[in-house]
Amino acid sequence: MTITYAYEALPVAEWFRRNREIAGFQNSARAMYQTVRELVENSLDATEPYGILPNILISIKPVDESKSWYSIYVEDNGIGIPGGEIPNVFGRVFYSSKYKIKQHRGVFGLGLKMVVLYAQSTTNKPIAVRSATIRSDKIYEYKIMIDTTKNEPIIIDRREYNNKYRWHGTAVKVIIEGNWLNSKKRIEDYLRRTAIISPYAEIFFKGPDMELILKRRTTKMPHPPEEGLPHPKSVDVDTVKQMILENPKSTLMEFLMNNFDGIGEGLAKSFLEWAGLDPNKVVGGLTQEEVTYLAEKLKAYEGWRRPRADWLSPAGAELLEVGARSILGAEAVFAVTRKPSSYSGHPFIVEAAIAWGGQIPPVDKPILLRYANKIPLLYDEGADVARKVVDEFNWQNYKVKLPAPLAVLIHVCSTKVPYASAGKEAIAEISEIEEEMRLALRDAARKLRIYLSRKEREMELLNKYISLAKYVDEISLSLNIITGIDKDKLSSNLNKLIEQKLGVTIDDLVKHVASLPAEGQNVGQ
Ligand code: ADP
Ligand code: MG
Repeated sequence: MTITYAYEALPVAEWFRRNREIAGFQNSARAMYQTVRELVENSLDATEPYGILPNILISIKPVDESKSWYSIYVEDNGIGIPGGEIPNVFGRVFYSSKYKIKQHRGVFGLGLKMVVLYAQSTTNKPIAVRSATIRSDKIYEYKIMIDTTKNEPIIIDRREYNNKYRWHGTAVKVIIEGNWLNSKKRIEDYLRRTAIISPYAEIFFKGPDMELILKRRTTKMPHPPEEGLPHPKSVDVDTVKQMILENPKSTLMEFLMNNFDGIGEGLAKSFLEWAGLDPNKVVGGLTQEEVTYLAEKLKAYEGWRRPRADWLSPAGAELLEVGARSILGAEAVFAVTRKPSSYSGHPFIVEAAIAWGGQIPPVDKPILLRYANKIPLLYDEGADVARKVVDEFNWQNYKVKLPAPLAVLIHVCSTKVPYASAGKEAIAEISEIEEEMRLALRDAARKLRIYLSRKEREMELLNKYISLAKYVDEISLSLNIITGIDKDKLSSNLNKLIEQKLGVTIDDLVKHVASLPAEGQNVGQ
């Protein structure tokens, strides 16, 4: 038998075309959801960090129902894409403006390209783009496909127009094979949950048989993240090598001080002394072994400062409360933003909110809304560490007896969210993150407990009032017969007396009654 050895390298774009399930494009329903998600996330990334209140328009229309072809259109009022960059941004896998140490929704430089590759594989139609940057006097329009063997854009059509009204933003239209029936619920959920965590966005969605208008509920936006440097504990040997290539002439001292987060002169000196390295050695001259040694020591040193969290942009308790109250129709929401923490040199912040009552139905297991860098995560809930934390949480300690009208929101933001897979749908089990989730939930649950205790007291007062009030009419009538004093006057005085005794006015009590959950739903123990 003769063996032929035949090897080949698969071009990266071709690899992703063949393995699209890795990025969430495994079937036509999921692909439809993923397409909307990738485009909306890009729109939010192009607005919010730049202080632009996002206006996002999404429309899905059937194009050819016999083939399940749909057009998906997403338009935003963001910073736009420079004309010359449009082909690469849409046509080159791993081309991104977000490879920075900073919190973004996009992380891989892959989203748009997966959309184009999926469209290409299913309908063989190009993606259409229209974009103008801020103050640009031109609007650019392209139709683009991807040459998967070269990982290069193919420009099918290109036009430019005068930007008379100084419009800025990006509009994308793509025709894909989809499944509206099976993706409708997820897409709707995704948009609603986006509105919960980004209540400053205005989202208008038109689907084949429905419309969803998510109005802006506040003009307050979170602080935009800053761009940072890597923390010494977060870099591996390859990254160190790359950094050395970019700064070959620096001495070890300069190299550490200029390229890492939180290393000043003193800290650089003590580290080098601890590691037994010469501060004046030029990094370009380090041998492979020395570079490996340096990388190991950077990770092992215990004296580094905690990573800074300025690169992060949490939603903040106030926005979470506004969002959850209005979209979930909750009676009350309790939110907390924890202090920054870190894992493997990556800073992160956990936020939690507990929504109670109102339109939330009583459930055996709290409804969980998961978020990472403000992206709602809808799939793979079972694989997410947040689910575990919520399930293990001892609600009884917080006066909650399940079933109860309870929804929990957990948000992790980080310069590097540890996703369990490339589909970005679940957060991996990192012990530091798990612990922060537990603490965030505890902090929010404490607020809930205070609220429920107050309600419990009100309920008791109400019951007392009701049992006393039963006699008011009877007593007033008897007193009226005996004394001749007007019956209504007597009963109003009696009511006042009861109010005084209970220390609360009936009007206030009645107001609270209206918002009380149905009997037996809330207060345990
Ligand atoms: P990622 O979002 O991970 O960077 P994408 O392939 O989704 O990867 O997008 C590539 C790049 O295209 C982004 O980094 C961004 O610079 C640019 N981009 C995409 N969509 C928009 C948009 N709506 N507005 C402005 N820029 C955009
Ligand atoms: Mg993206």
